[in-house]
Amino acid sequence: ERTVQRTRVWCDERFNFQATFLQCLAKHVPNIYSAEMDPLLEKQEEMVQAAILYPLECYLFGEDPDIFLEKLQQSGTSQLCGKVFKGGETTYSCRDCAVDPTCVLCMDCFQNSIHKNHRYKMHSSTGGGFCDCGDTEAWKAGPLCTKHEPGASGSAKENSECQLNEEIMEHSRRVFPSVIKYIVDMLIWEEEKELPPELTTREKVDSYYCVLFNDEHHSYDHVIYSLQRALGCELGEAQLHTTAIDKEGRRAVKAGHYASCQEAKEEIKRHSENVSQRPLHVEVLHADVMAHQKFALRLGSWLNKLMSYSSDFRQIFCQICLKEEAGSEKPCFISKLMLWDAKLHKGARKVLHELIFSSFFMEMEYKKLFAVEFVKYYKALQKEYISDDHDRVLSVTALSVQMFTVPTLARHLIEEQNVITIITETLLEVLPEYLDKNDKFNFQGYSQDKLNRVYAVIYDLRYVLVSKPTLWTDRLRERFLDGFVSFLRILTCMQGMEEIKRQIGQHIEVDPDWEAAIAIQMQLKNILLMFQEWCACDEELLLKAYRECHKAVMRCSTNGRSREKTVFHLCGHTLESRPYRVSADPVSIHLPLSRTLAGLHVRLSKTGTISRLHEFVSPEEFQVELLIEYPLRCLVLVAQVAAEMWRRNGLSLISQVFYYQDVKCREEMYDKDIIMLQIGASLMDPNQFLLLILQRYELADAFKKIKPTKDQDLIKQCNVLIEEMLQILIYVVGERYVPGVSNVTKEDVIMREIIHLLCIEPMAHSAITKSLPENENNETGLENVIDKVATFKKPGVSGHGVYELKDECLKEFNMFFYHYTKTQHSKAEHTQKKRRKQENRDEALPPPPPPDFSPAFSNVVRILNCDVMMHILRTILQRAVELETHLWTEAMIQMVLHLLSLGLLEEKQQLQTSPEEEVTFDFYHKATRMGSSALNAVSVLTLLERLKRVPQLEAQKDTVNWILQMFDTVKRLREKSSLTTVAATSGSEATKGDESTQDKEKAERKRKAEAARLHRQKIMAQMSALQRNFIETHKLLYENTLEAQGKEDAIMEEESMSSTIDCSKIALGPKRGPSVAEKEVLTCILCQEEQEVKLESAAMVLSACVQKSTALTQNRSRILELSGDTLDPLFMHPDLPCGTHTGSCGHVMHAACWQKYFEAMQLNFRQRLHVEQIFDLENGEYLCPLCKSLCNTVIPIVPLQAQKINSEDAEAVAQILSLARWLEIIIVRISGYSVKNAEENLPAFTNKGMGNSALEFHSILSFGVQSSVKYSSSIKEMLILFATTIYRVGLKVAPNEADYRIPMMTWSTCAFTIQCIENLLETEGKPLFGSLQNRQHSGLKALVQFAAAQRTTSPQVLIQKHLVRLLGVLLPNFKAEDTPSLLEVDMFHVLVGVVLSFPSLYWEDAVDLQPSSISSAYNHLYLFHLTTLAHITQIVVSSATESPTVQSSDNSEEARSAESFCREACQYTSGCFGQDIPGWFVWDCVKKGIMPYLRSAALFFHYLLGVSPPEELLQVSEEGQFKALCSYLSLPTNLFLLFQEYWDTVNPLLQRWCTDPVVLSSLKGKSIAIRYPRKRNSLIELPEDYSCLLNQASQFRCPRSSDDEQKHPVLCLFCGAMLCSQNTCCQELVNGEELGACTSHALQCGAGVCMFLKIRECKVVLIEGKTRGCLYPAPYLDEYGETDPGLKRGNPLHLCRERYRKLHLLWQQHCIIEEIARSQETNQIFFGFNWQLL
Ligand SMILES: [Zn+2]
Ligand SMILES: [Zn+2]
Ligand SMILES: [Zn+2]
Ligand SMILES: [Zn+2]
Ligand SMILES: [Zn+2]
Ligand SMILES: [Zn+2]
Ligand SMILES: [Zn+2]
Repeated sequence: ERTVQRTRVWCDERFNFQATFLQCLAKHVPNIYSAEMDPLLEKQEEMVQAAILYPLECYLFGEDPDIFLEKLQQSGTSQLCGKVFKGGETTYSCRDCAVDPTCVLCMDCFQNSIHKNHRYKMHSSTGGGFCDCGDTEAWKAGPLCTKHEPGASGSAKENSECQLNEEIMEHSRRVFPSVIKYIVDMLIWEEEKELPPELTTREKVDSYYCVLFNDEHHSYDHVIYSLQRALGCELGEAQLHTTAIDKEGRRAVKAGHYASCQEAKEEIKRHSENVSQRPLHVEVLHADVMAHQKFALRLGSWLNKLMSYSSDFRQIFCQICLKEEAGSEKPCFISKLMLWDAKLHKGARKVLHELIFSSFFMEMEYKKLFAVEFVKYYKALQKEYISDDHDRVLSVTALSVQMFTVPTLARHLIEEQNVITIITETLLEVLPEYLDKNDKFNFQGYSQDKLNRVYAVIYDLRYVLVSKPTLWTDRLRERFLDGFVSFLRILTCMQGMEEIKRQIGQHIEVDPDWEAAIAIQMQLKNILLMFQEWCACDEELLLKAYRECHKAVMRCSTNGRSREKTVFHLCGHTLESRPYRVSADPVSIHLPLSRTLAGLHVRLSKTGTISRLHEFVSPEEFQVELLIEYPLRCLVLVAQVAAEMWRRNGLSLISQVFYYQDVKCREEMYDKDIIMLQIGASLMDPNQFLLLILQRYELADAFKKIKPTKDQDLIKQCNVLIEEMLQILIYVVGERYVPGVSNVTKEDVIMREIIHLLCIEPMAHSAITKSLPENENNETGLENVIDKVATFKKPGVSGHGVYELKDECLKEFNMFFYHYTKTQHSKAEHTQKKRRKQENRDEALPPPPPPDFSPAFSNVVRILNCDVMMHILRTILQRAVELETHLWTEAMIQMVLHLLSLGLLEEKQQLQTSPEEEVTFDFYHKATRMGSSALNAVSVLTLLERLKRVPQLEAQKDTVNWILQMFDTVKRLREKSSLTTVAATSGSEATKGDESTQDKEKAERKRKAEAARLHRQKIMAQMSALQRNFIETHKLLYENTLEAQGKEDAIMEEESMSSTIDCSKIALGPKRGPSVAEKEVLTCILCQEEQEVKLESAAMVLSACVQKSTALTQNRSRILELSGDTLDPLFMHPDLPCGTHTGSCGHVMHAACWQKYFEAMQLNFRQRLHVEQIFDLENGEYLCPLCKSLCNTVIPIVPLQAQKINSEDAEAVAQILSLARWLEIIIVRISGYSVKNAEENLPAFTNKGMGNSALEFHSILSFGVQSSVKYSSSIKEMLILFATTIYRVGLKVAPNEADYRIPMMTWSTCAFTIQCIENLLETEGKPLFGSLQNRQHSGLKALVQFAAAQRTTSPQVLIQKHLVRLLGVLLPNFKAEDTPSLLEVDMFHVLVGVVLSFPSLYWEDAVDLQPSSISSAYNHLYLFHLTTLAHITQIVVSSATESPTVQSSDNSEEARSAESFCREACQYTSGCFGQDIPGWFVWDCVKKGIMPYLRSAALFFHYLLGVSPPEELLQVSEEGQFKALCSYLSLPTNLFLLFQEYWDTVNPLLQRWCTDPVVLSSLKGKSIAIRYPRKRNSLIELPEDYSCLLNQASQFRCPRSSDDEQKHPVLCLFCGAMLCSQNTCCQELVNGEELGACTSHALQCGAGVCMFLKIRECKVVLIEGKTRGCLYPAPYLDEYGETDPGLKRGNPLHLCRERYRKLHLLWQQHCIIEEIARSQETNQIFFGFNWQLL
C-alpha cells in the first residue's frame, strides 16, 4: 500500500519526473549512506530497495516488479551469452571454427556447443573479456550453444522476446535519462565539498571523509605502513583498509571535520612519499558527495541488471547514452564516461564496463555506434591510458578487442572512421619522446611500463587487420591505402634506428638497451605480414602499396651519397660503388621498410602482377643496388659478429643478432633480407652482384691475391667471413621455399621446416611448435602436415611423446638449411651421417633438388655459373689442394661442394626439361674450363679430382665422389643429343670405370665397417666385465629380486637333502622348519669395507625414514591427534587411522661411519642458506650418502638367531602342552608376578574355571629355556637410538629414551609397515614372497629383527605390563578395564605385540632367560591361533549385518562348520546374530576377509624366524595361496575347525567377545563396524577429460568468503576434498601458526604428507609438514603425450592412467617425502615459496 502511494506521487508529477527523482535522492541518499566508515551493508541495501529502487521499479513497470521481471525472464533471453569473465576463469576457443583466437566461449556455452568435439584450446582469462557465444561473426560454424539457440529454453517464440508494451517503453524513456544523467554527473563530479544545487537540500554539516585511492605504484606493505603511521591505527585495521582499497579502488580511512580529514590527508601523503618517493592519492570528500557517488554506482548495477531482461531496455538505454545535445559540441553521456574512465576508481570502472557489456555489446547495431564513438575519441583515450597507472583490464581501452575483431565492424570503422590511420597516428603521437634528431626511434632509457602500454595500441592495429576483407569497395581500398601510408611513417622512424658502430680498442662501457626495439619488432611482425596479405588481395592495391613503400625506402636510402664512387676489378669485371664498410661505419639491424618491400615483391611475383610494376615504379627509379644495400649490410654484420669482430660491443649485439634469426622475428627480419638479396641477384648482372657481395663482406682482397699476413686472428677472421659469405650465397641460390620465390604452397614450407627439425632428432609436439613461426591466429599449421612427414611415438610413464621423421622424407634433408643455427646444423649433419653409416651407405649428403624459381626470380641461378663465382670456387679448392692449411677450412670446402652440387643439379634439371641447345646454363662447361691462360691453370673439375687425395678431407670423400658422378651425368646429358654414339661408348666406359672404383670403395667401406664392428665388440666385452666387477663389489646394492630368489632356492635345495620338504615349510608349532640364516657380509657404503653381521660386532645400520602415515586408513573423517603427548598407542584401531611407517633405501653403513657422516652433514648444512626448508635438522634428517633419499634415522642390523628344533622332542612336548594347559601356565605365571610385584598394580584377574591350579609360577620355564642373547654395546646403542626415533616421529613428541611407550611404538611400526607392504603387494598383483624390491626386503628384515631385539633394552617389567594388557584381548576371564572390545582393535597389531613381548615372561630377577626353540614354537603357535580365532570372530560379527545377494547350495565341510559356529555364537548374542545366515556365506566372508591378516602374519613370521615359505607363495594364485598360507602358519584349511579343536577353551572367550556391549550394538545395526577385508585405498577417481575438472573448479565457492575474487581451487587426491588454497580467507590457526588450507588439511588427511592437484594450473603438489613441498607433473597428457603445467599451451588434456598409477604408488610406497627432498635438492627455485600458506 505504501508503495502504491509513493508510485502515485511520482505519477502525479509525471511531467517533472527528473525533479521528483532528484528530490527523492536528495532526501534519502545521504541518510542511507551515512555510516561510511563502518557500514551495515545489508541494512543499507534494504533501505535503498525500500526508499528508492522499489518505488522506481513500480513506476517503471506499472506493476509489482518481482512479478513483472519474472514474466520478462520467462519470455526468453538474448541469443548472445555475453558472460563477462573474471580473472582466472577458464575460457575455450575452437581452433577449427573461431574466426580468430580472441573469440572465446565460457565454460557453460562450450560444454553445450559443437566445439567440444573439435580441436579446442583452454585458457585462463585475464579478466574483462566476454563470452562470444551467439556472435555469428566470431565463428565459422556453430556460433550458438544449445542453451542460447533460439527456442532452446522451452518457449518456441523466436524473437518474440519480451516486446515491452508502449507504456513501459514510455516510462523507460522518461526514467532512464534522469538515472543516466545522475550517474554521469555524480561519477564525474569534481567538487570536494559541494553537491549540485538540485541535490543540496539539507543544512550542510561539517562531516567529511579522508579517502585513499589505490595505485599500482605503492605496494601493499607501503600502504599499510603509511596508514599505520599517519592514522596511528592498528595493523589489523590498516590491513583491512588496504585490502578494501585494493579491491574497490578507494576507501574512506577517516571520518571527521574538514580540518582533521585534511590533516590526515597530509600525513598519509607525507608518510607514503617517505617510503616510495611518490605520495599516495588522497582526497577529502564531503559525506554527502561520497554518499551520492556510492549510490550512483548502485544505480549503475541496477541498470546493469535491468539490461539483461529486455532488448527494448537496452535499446532505449543506448539511445539515451548516445544522444548528443543539439547544437552542442559536448560529447554524449557514454563518451563523457569513457573520457572520464582513467580518472575513475577501480570499483566505478568495473560498474561502467559491465554496463557497456550488458547494453551496447548485446545489441549489434548499438555496438557499432559505440565503436564509432570509441574511435572518435580513440587518441584521447589511449593517451589517458598510457599515462594512467591501472592495469589494462581496468581501462576502457581494453574494450577495443570486442569491437575491432568483429570483421564487419572493423571494415565499417576503416571505411567510415579511418581507424587504421587513427591508430597509427596515435602511435606516432605517443612515441615522439623516443625520436632522435634524425626522426628515428631510439629507446635508450625507455620505461618498460610505458612501452607495454604502447603495445596495446599496436595490438589494436592487429585486431583491426586480423580478418582480411573478402569484398573490396573503392572506399575501403582508399582508406586502407591511407592507413598503410600512415603506417609506413612509423616504419620510416624505425628504418635504420638504433644504429651501432663497431667498437675498436676498448670494450663498450654500458650495454645499450636493445630489448625495446626488438620487442616492438616482435609486436609488429604479424602486423607487417597482415598488411602485406591485405595488399595482396587486390592487384591495383598491391602495386600502389608497392610504389608507396618503394618511395619510402628510397627516401631513407641516402646514407653515403656524399661519398665518391670507387671502382673494384676482379676477373675482368668491374663494380663502381660508394665506399661503405660495416666494420667502420654505422649499421642498423632494423629495416622494416626494406623488408616490407621484399614482402610485397614476392607477392607481386606470386600473383604475376610484377609484369605491371614498371607502370608504377619506373626502372630508373627502381635502383636495385640501393634496395639491397641495407639488408646486405645487416647480413654482413651477422657474419662479422660470427667472426668475433664485434666482441667489444658486448652482449646486447649478440642478443640482437640472436633475435634477428630467431623464430620469433626472422620472418620479418632475416628471411626478408635473404629475399632482398634474391631480388638483387635476379635483377643485377651476376658478376656485379657477386662483386658487391665480396666488397661488402670486405673480402675483395681475400680473393685477389694471397696476402702473406702472419696474424693468426686476422686469418681466422677472414676464414669465418668467407664461410659466412658462401653460406649466404648457398641460401640466395638454394632457398626457394617461399610462395612467390618459387611455386610452393604454405604447407610445403611448413613441411620442409618440420622435416629439418626432425632431421636433428625426434621432437615433442610442443618443441616443434615452438620452433615454427606463428601466424596472426597463433597457428603454425603444424597439424595439417605433421602426419605426412612424421610418425608419433607415445611416451612411457615419464617423459613425453615424440615425432619421428618418416624415412621417405630423409631425402629432403638439406645440410645448409637456412633456419638452422650453427649447433643445429652440426647436430643434424652428425645425425644424418650416422644414420647413413648404420645403413651401410656412403656419407654424402648432397642438397635435394630445389624447386624451380618462379619467372621473376629465375635469373638468380646465373650467379652460379658466372665468372666471379667460378673464381671463388676455384680459389678455395686450389688452396685446399695446395695444402695452404691456414687459408681454408673443411666447412668452406663443404660449402663449395654444396654450391657445385647446386650448379650441377640446376643444369641437370634444365637439360631434362628442355632441349640441349636451349639450355644456356653452362655450369659444366665453366667448371671444366681452365681458369686462366696461365701455365699452371686448372679447372674446377681437375681440382675436385685432386681434392680426394687431401688427407684432411677424408670425411668429404663421399660427397666429392657424388659430385664427380654428377659431372658425368650432366656431361652425358649434354652429349646425348649431339654425339649419340660417341657419348654412348665414352659414357659406358666412364660408367665402367666408375663401377670399378665404386666396387673398390664398397669393399673398402665393408672392411672398415667390419673393423668397427670388431672394435665395438671388444669394447662391449670390456664394459660387461667391468659391470660384473661392479656388481660383485656392490652386491647388496644391485642384487635384484631374481638373484635373491635364486639364492634362497639354492639354500632350500641344500636343506631338502637333510630334512623332509614337508616340515621345512612350516613356520609355527612342533613341525617348525629350520631357519635359513645365511652368514651376512655387508659392505659399508661409506668406507667400502666389508663386515660380517654378528651379535658381538660393532653395529651396522641401514639408512631409514620413519613417518606417520594414513595410507591404510578406513576412515578419513576421524580427527587425528596432532600431538601424541597423551596418546596410548598399544592398541591400534581397526580403522588403521594413522600408523608409523618405517622405510629404507636399503643402504648399509657402519654405525660409526654413519655417525661421522651425519655430524659432518649437520655441520655443513647449518652453514647453508635456506637449508631448513629441505632438512629438518632438529629431527635428525639427512640424505642417504649413496642414493640421496631423505632419511631421519638408521635401523641397526641384528642377525637372525638361527633355530632348529628336534621334531621328536617337539612331538613329545605336544603330548602335555595343550592350549588349555599352556593358558593355565601363563595365567599362573602372570598372577605369580602380580603377587610378587603387588605394587606394580598388574590387572587383577580371576582364574576360575581354569581347573587345577597346582601349577607353580615357574612352570613356564619347564618346557625349555635358554640364556638370553647378548648384543654388543654398539648394537644396543643403535637399538635405543632407532626406537627413540620411532617414538618421537610416530607420536610427534620430544625424544625420551625412558618413555614407557617406546616398546609399543616399536611393535606398532613393525605391524603397520608389514601391513603396508602386504597392501602394496596385493595392489600391484605381485606374489607375497620373492617380489619385494631389494630395499623393501632388507628394510623389512632389519625392522622385524630390530623389533624382536628392542625388548632387551627396556625394563622387562614394563614389557610384561604391556604384554598383560595385550593378552587381555585374547585370554578368557582375563579382561582388564582398559581392554578394548573385539571390534575396536586390529588383531594383527595384537599378534605382533604379543609375539614380540612374550619372551619377557621368561625373565627372572637374577638370570636373563628366554624360551628355548621348542618353547618358542609353541608360544608362537598358540598366540597365533588365539589371535586368529579372535580375528575370525571379528570378521563374522562385522559381516553379520549383511546378507547374501545370491543363492548357493554349497554344502561343503567348511560351510557346515561355519553354520555350527554361528549357532554357538547365536546364543551369546541373545538372538542379535542371525541364525538364518547360511553357512557358506559366513565361510565365504571369512575366507575373503582373513586373507590380508594371514598374508601379513606370514610375512611377519618369515622375517622373524627365517623359515622358508612354500613355493605357492612365490606365485600369484588365489586358491593355492590360501592353502599354502594355512600350511605355513599351521592352520587347518577349514578355519572353523580351530574352534572345534579348542572348543572348551574358546567357549568362554567367545562368550566374552560376543556379549560386549560394543559388539552387541554393532550386531543390532546401531553402529557400523569395519568390514573385512578392509578396502584398499587408492587415489580418488579423476575424470578422463580435464575440462570436467575445470568445470568443477569453476563452480567451486570458497566456504569462508563470498566475494567474487579469484580463487585457487585445489583438489586433495587422497580424499577428494576441494580446498581454497593460497588465500587468507581459508587460513587456519594451528598451534598458534597460520596455516594455509592445504597445509592444515594435510595434517589431518595425510598426517602431514599429502598430494594435491592445483586445478587451474594442472600441476600436482606434494607437501610434507609445514615447510616442504614440491611440484610434480599432473597425470594429464595432451594428444601429443605432453603435460601442460600452467595450461600454457591449452590443448585438450586427458587422464593418463599409468601416470596416475605411478602417483598412487608414490603414495602407497611412502615415497612422497623422498620425492620432495629430491626435487628440492635439484630445483632450488622453490626456496622462496611459503609452503605453510598453501
Ligand atoms: Zn557463454
Ligand atoms: Zn551459449
Ligand atoms: Zn569448432
Ligand atoms: Zn664404514
Ligand atoms: Zn640410499
Ligand atoms: Zn584430503
Ligand atoms: Zn577461501
